[in-house]
Amino acid sequence: MTPWWAWAGVAAAAAATAPWGIQRVMLSLAKHPSLAGHPRLARRISRWVPAYCFALEDAWGRDGAPPAVQAQRQHAFVSLGQRLRAAAPRTLALTEQAREGLPDLQLTGRYRVPFPFSALVREHLPVGAFWQRSEGVELIDLDGNRYYDLTGSYGVNLYGLDFYKTCMEQAEQMGRALGPVLGGYHPCVADNVERLRRLSGMDAVSFHMSGTEAVMQAVRLARYHTGRRYVVRFAGAYHGWWDDVQPGPGNPGTPRDTLTLADLSERTLRVLRRRRDIACVLVNPLQALHPNRAAPGDSTLVLARSGEGVSRAAYADWLRRLREVCSAAGIALIFDEVFLGFRLAPGGAQAYFGVPADLVCYGKTLGGGLPIGVVCGRAHWMRRYRDDRPADLVFARGTFNAHPYVMAAMNVFLRRLEAPEIAADTQEADAYWATWLQRFNTALQQAAVPVRVRGLSSVWTVDYPQVGRYHWLLQYYLREAGLALSWVGTGRLIFSHNYRDEEMAAVLQRLLQACRRMTADGWWWRDPALTDDIWRQRLRRALAKEMARAWWQRAAAF
Ligand code: PMP
Repeated sequence: MTPWWAWAGVAAAAAATAPWGIQRVMLSLAKHPSLAGHPRLARRISRWVPAYCFALEDAWGRDGAPPAVQAQRQHAFVSLGQRLRAAAPRTLALTEQAREGLPDLQLTGRYRVPFPFSALVREHLPVGAFWQRSEGVELIDLDGNRYYDLTGSYGVNLYGLDFYKTCMEQAEQMGRALGPVLGGYHPCVADNVERLRRLSGMDAVSFHMSGTEAVMQAVRLARYHTGRRYVVRFAGAYHGWWDDVQPGPGNPGTPRDTLTLADLSERTLRVLRRRRDIACVLVNPLQALHPNRAAPGDSTLVLARSGEGVSRAAYADWLRRLREVCSAAGIALIFDEVFLGFRLAPGGAQAYFGVPADLVCYGKTLGGGLPIGVVCGRAHWMRRYRDDRPADLVFARGTFNAHPYVMAAMNVFLRRLEAPEIAADTQEADAYWATWLQRFNTALQQAAVPVRVRGLSSVWTVDYPQVGRYHWLLQYYLREAGLALSWVGTGRLIFSHNYRDEEMAAVLQRLLQACRRMTADGWWWRDPALTDDIWRQRLRRALAKEMARAWWQRAAAF
């Protein structure tokens, strides 16, 4: 018989661990049910995904298309490749030459499309990686081809490439006399600090070399001042490539101090209220466009892409509640405005959504065309030492942190923000981009193509409301039509604010032209006898079978 004291021990252990158990359950409930909400699991699963690729002859009937459509597609695929090759021989030759020594180029080339099609695409649909020059809203390749720039230089290009060329030229003049003197500051730094304090509404500023570094610094400060270890990020949100903010696929490490919680969730607020070990919450306001999802790239565009963003009012309401909870729990609320900063408003997301943060990270466009990361914060959070404990400080210095040329380019950028045309742009930006979104969608609907666009200001994403295996091909037809997208493809179209109506109309016409070609070449064929639901189920089942077969073949090979 079990002695009484053993039962008492079990009861005492249960009582002691109950709060931990409750906390654990609450944490699990606050995770988004998708894989984006479970990055470690996603990473584990990603290792199990078997490699397989289609041959040219058996790639085009993956949606059950009849042989005639498959033949039409194969012909279209090969001839699209021939046209792309013929149009840009010099650009493609240099791309090919550089590929072997540039693993980054190898990666982007490989992950433009879903992996089973990747080898075929690399062989047949070449895309140049080099540009000769830029003019207005156009990029010009080594063969003289002109493309409307929808890459937005990863978001750096907000006011138009010519704007940044001027910033860089003037910066060179301003910084030349001092040259690469580091450690001490160029006089313009003092002005930058004042301007940034005004714009951000914060007390203090620190300069870094990239957005990733700015986020690292903000998190480090939050940990230092709270004495707590955990960083909360929201499912799907990007915050740079530092280990702690990238716990899923793509990072071989296993960050232990990162909690990935659901965006816009009461359960998340409950966790934040209850726990006493959370140092900070990171918010990337771009998630309003696709909450709880990763950035929409074509490499993961397997069957369809459509998502509901949330309205400005709904997201503002969420941020307000998050703000209240963070204040009450002593958690630093960090806005990561590296991508969106200045695009929504000069005062950024804080001004646009009407919610103040404790620390704000900026980057990209703020460098006036040069590499930058900036943290602005309230005095308390920005302090690097304690008066009462002299050996307990927080270190963050980097060789190039306030490079004179970068500081000068930033200074030109910040001064130019005050120009009347920039102020006018900010006033009208929301309405302008909303009007064009509507025009695009009306035209796409009239053209009867399964493509729609959504956006937050001038950052757009292409949705495919109907399931299909070949939507990713649209990026190549867009290239042919003279639209340049970044390697992530149609998930991110980034417009600079110097696009005028004529250019927007031209982009729309080119998009329609590409969509019509997709239709004519049979890529959006679907079995007319099937309802939407059955069609979706059939494609899903075919995809699952395909994966299972590949997995089985791999297992059998061992
Ligand atoms: N945060 C956000 C929201 C970003 O979009 C990015 C870059 N895309 C980063 C951080 C990292 O910035 P960087 O690439 O300059 O390191």
